[in-house]
Amino acid sequence: MSGVKDQVKLLTSVDRREFMGLCAQISVVLGLGNDMVPKIAEALEAAARKPSIIWLHFQECTGDSEAFLRTTSPSVAELVLDVLSIDYHETIMAASGDQAEQNLAKAIKENKGKYLVVCEGAIPLATPPGPAGLKGGYLTIGNKTGLQIAEEVCRDAAAVICVGNCSSYGGVQAQRPNPTGAVGVGEALGIKTVNIPACPHNPVNSIATIVNYLLLGTLPPTDRFGRPLFAYEERIHDQCTRRSHFDAGQFVTEWGSEEAKKGFCLYKMGCKGPQTYNNCNKARYNDHTGWPIGAGHGCVGCSEPKFWDTMSPFYKRLDNIEVPFGGVEATADKVGLVLTGAAVAGAAVHAVYTFNKKKEHEERIIDREKKEGK
Ligand code: SF4
Repeated sequence: MSGVKDQVKLLTSVDRREFMGLCAQISVVLGLGNDMVPKIAEALEAAARKPSIIWLHFQECTGDSEAFLRTTSPSVAELVLDVLSIDYHETIMAASGDQAEQNLAKAIKENKGKYLVVCEGAIPLATPPGPAGLKGGYLTIGNKTGLQIAEEVCRDAAAVICVGNCSSYGGVQAQRPNPTGAVGVGEALGIKTVNIPACPHNPVNSIATIVNYLLLGTLPPTDRFGRPLFAYEERIHDQCTRRSHFDAGQFVTEWGSEEAKKGFCLYKMGCKGPQTYNNCNKARYNDHTGWPIGAGHGCVGCSEPKFWDTMSPFYKRLDNIEVPFGGVEATADKVGLVLTGAAVAGAAVHAVYTFNKKKEHEERIIDREKKEGK
């Protein structure tokens, strides 16, 4: 991996307009105004404050690295590699074998207490059968278990950021019956991690978390599942482009139908948007062009803990939707009959509901700040 000076030089290889475009996108995701865009650019360019990043892989499919690497122009991967100092990443680094392990040890030693760890994948805690069985032995890299590596690397880190559902909460590996005893990194180590779940996570959210750290020297406030509030405070359902169809009782009941072509609500096709928190519609994937519901598939709840167990079957509708005030969600089936002639009433109920949800969130934030002594 190139050193800091090389990376500053590499900055010139990133088109300035594209770079500022990414900074503007990060500013939106963080809920900051236009005034902050130059400050975000400044923070990313300030070589002296450029953090060393160690990216660890555990039980996973590399989808979160792919999310970085497969974006098109402006390439998030290019920006990250040019602007940040990624000192260890098994998928993209040139070194292998002993050389790779030495690079890791060097990065830890030289940046003790200052480096950021990005984790991808779950950590197995179960002990495989047999005489050589070792706790966590279902995953070994360079003769060490994933658990040992995580303990060694995360111990002296400034912060641990988990990308994707697997490192955050165990992901598919932790699905029942969970034969390897897979858990998220925070649970495996008994530490607080910042979690950026989804399958895969949106790179804009992890970069925004790092930018928050560069700008303020702290990690962003999170909810009780360790998810940054700037990205995970709102439900998918409340920002959904199909929400007006839900409120009007217009549902898709068959794939490929006229209703599907018209973009009606996917609730009856199993959409888990009403129980899922993420900023998918705002941040969007593939250079801000699309997201699953926009593409015609219901949300599967991939940013929620244990979603493989709690949100499946993915094509079966939710039967336990939160019913806040006997409002729109309580009448999802009847809504088509009742609200067709009462759109104004529906809008009013929705407004009251949205107001109360916002109030709930604010109370949650105040509670958290009290606990943190702010
Ligand atoms: S149920 Fe799904 S598709 Fe329908 S409005 Fe909610 S999030 Fe959108």
